[in-house]
Amino acid sequence: MITLQNYINGSLCNPIENNWLDNIEPATGTVYSRLPDSSQYDIDIAIEAAKSAQYSWANMSVEDRSAIMMKIADGIRNRFDEFAAAESKDQGKPLWLSKAMDISRAIQNIEFFATEILHFASESHHTSQTINYTLRSPIGIVGCISPWNLPLYLFTWKIAPALATGNCVIAKPSELTPYTATLFAEICIEAGLPAGVLNILHGTGNNIGALIVKHPDIHAISFTGGTVTGAHIASIAAPMFKKLSLELGGKNPTIIFEDANLEQAISTTVRSAFTNQGEICLCGSRILIHDSIYEQFKTEFIKQVQQLKVGDPFEADTKIGALVSEGHINKVKSYIDLAIQEGGTVLCGGNSVYPKGACEKGYFLEPTVIEGLSNTCRTNQEEIFGPVVTLQSFSDEAEAISLANGTTYGLAANIWTEHLSKAHRVSAALDFGIVWVNCWLLRDLRTPFGGVKHSGVGREGGFEVLRFFTEPKNVCIKI
Ligand code: NDP
Repeated sequence: MITLQNYINGSLCNPIENNWLDNIEPATGTVYSRLPDSSQYDIDIAIEAAKSAQYSWANMSVEDRSAIMMKIADGIRNRFDEFAAAESKDQGKPLWLSKAMDISRAIQNIEFFATEILHFASESHHTSQTINYTLRSPIGIVGCISPWNLPLYLFTWKIAPALATGNCVIAKPSELTPYTATLFAEICIEAGLPAGVLNILHGTGNNIGALIVKHPDIHAISFTGGTVTGAHIASIAAPMFKKLSLELGGKNPTIIFEDANLEQAISTTVRSAFTNQGEICLCGSRILIHDSIYEQFKTEFIKQVQQLKVGDPFEADTKIGALVSEGHINKVKSYIDLAIQEGGTVLCGGNSVYPKGACEKGYFLEPTVIEGLSNTCRTNQEEIFGPVVTLQSFSDEAEAISLANGTTYGLAANIWTEHLSKAHRVSAALDFGIVWVNCWLLRDLRTPFGGVKHSGVGREGGFEVLRFFTEPKNVCIKI
């Protein structure tokens, strides 16, 4: 049994009240580690540590901060295979995906913000009488709360810019996926990150997560997770006038126009629907197809989906691993039942999978494709966050846009067309924070990242997030 510990004031430590939670491996359904169920005592110590570290970290030269962060990135690179295996064991995703996406991107996140900070500049405004300049100071102590679907990837996506801008951080990974955050703490110690600059508290959202959100010494919250949780966090943090960045759920459309390169559109849509078991906020779960190519798309799409191997994350040819927890697979299955009640037809999938051997008690589900539902039904309105997609047809561009925009969410949309002006026109008309044309998940970390409507508030990435994690101050000098 592996024991995962908190990282407070530069050391790994047990929770003060000695309360622990079980951590289950989704692919086997067995408990393999335990993690702290942190409490008020732990956060109080973490806050004191962060307060002590704050001045020297904020006033360290950006070059020195950057150098420490680059050492942290190197530390992950040196233990790459161990991190990847830990992520797959903890989350259920295929090992090749942990390597190709999660751990590679975690390293990239840290290196990106460690170097971006060296090029961060602020404004100056002149008039005939004055010169104004804007100072950008760290906020102080900030809270970073991340979800279970891309554990280290999203954890570092928040922590790296917060540290680069000179803040001290109290961070909480999901209780379902705490493993790589603990390995990350070991790397921070080895890399010489000063004690108290980063503190990682494990535990549940309702307990330690809520304590982070309402702590008066934490002045900003960067949260990625579900929309309901985001609304709850906002209701606590907003009256305390905390800065808030909320990256929330999605119900993303993939629009296939009649002039799409169908071969590329189909193979990429299989990926955008089912990568990471469909547990990526950017996965396209509503596939909208022009009626003239609907049958052709459907036949080939289903053929390719049925070839995806579901099973042991550690087998090289597995394409779909385990869903993250028993609770989550039950939720996803309840949406398949709902789709049938709402009049949908399951074209493929819909059933649990029980691989022989060590994984027979894991949380595996066939990739599922459903048609015959209206855009307004719950299946097409609510985030399922699993390997379940629906197909709908449209007859013209206006209808495609209306269907795509017709939910409360607005995170990411996909368009497939070879028509240049249509691509521009539709991109502009879509109410989403991100639009991919003829591709999916091509990420340039300099771009603003985030959603509109119920998909969130604020933007991460690029200089946007460095602005979020700093407080601007106008200094006005009379000439
Ligand atoms: P949750 O909202 O359940 O949890 C996210 C994090 O918040 C977890 O660490 C959780 O802790 C914590 N938490 C839960 N309740 C509270 C609370 N009251 N106060 C403070 N923290 C709390 O989301 P999931 O982990 O289920 O993640 C899936 C969701 O994340 C999906 O909706 C998905 O779309 C969204 N997401 C959005 C992304 C984006 O960039 N827009 C990217 C990735 C995911 P614990 O798990 O320990 O309970």
